[in-house]
Amino acid sequence: MRELPEVETIRRALDKESSGKKVKTAEVLGPMSAFPHHPNKKHLAHKLEGAKITGVSRKGLTILVALDTDDVMVVDLASGGSIFKTTPKEPLAKETLLVVAFTQGGQLRFVDASSTATISVVSSDDLMAQYPGLGSLGLDPVETPVSWILFAEMLRGRKAKLKAFLTDQTTLAGLGEVYADEILFTSGLRPDRVASSLTTQEIRRLYRSLVETLHDAIKYRGTALEGDGYADIYGKPGEYQDHLKVHGREKEACRRCRVPIVKVRYGSSFTYLCEQCQV
Ligand SMILES: [Zn+2]
Repeated sequence: MRELPEVETIRRALDKESSGKKVKTAEVLGPMSAFPHHPNKKHLAHKLEGAKITGVSRKGLTILVALDTDDVMVVDLASGGSIFKTTPKEPLAKETLLVVAFTQGGQLRFVDASSTATISVVSSDDLMAQYPGLGSLGLDPVETPVSWILFAEMLRGRKAKLKAFLTDQTTLAGLGEVYADEILFTSGLRPDRVASSLTTQEIRRLYRSLVETLHDAIKYRGTALEGDGYADIYGKPGEYQDHLKVHGREKEACRRCRVPIVKVRYGSSFTYLCEQCQV
């Protein structure tokens, strides 16, 4: 899954590379299931062609490309979507959903090998009605720096286990399996600890770890896991996978205490932890 650091890495570069550019042509190539708000491909192409991109923002894991037509292009990269800045000469990947060419030259290609990503252009007034999930998102820990006191308030009285707390999009927007595991390891807390059971010192550790892990992951342009095809818009894979401490490291030595990392079933997925370092 693309999580906050990967989506934010893409958003920043996309904003830098496409703001102020005008769409010359939009070639819609993927299956219609990738374009849920459009009756046909022409409908989507017409909404993009001639429009100028005015800025790129993010709500949780959704990328919002603002257009000067008062429409917004809504891109959900889901578990395997990518966006690449290319030239027309480069060979077209067969999983390409959309190619946007600019009047100033250059292209953006939206690619998805996972068949989960979606793209739509909707009126900005309709955005919340068309995407109600965007309205129920919790705090964005990168967009809106949270004070640790407010964070402590969020944990108070919560019966959820810590991993569920961190990955609940209505509490904190943007965290998934990878970063929740990493944050819990760095803060020395078990994923199955109940949120409301934390001491003040543990809350401070969890808070610091949340902020530091996300900023570090963005600094390294996100995590490219085997087979997930993640790269930034220049085609360069992220590098945070080299810095992961527990996620995907089953049976490897803990970087802190050398005891092997364990992988345990957690709901419908897995969680990685060090039984010795996390209490
Ligand atoms: Zn350890």
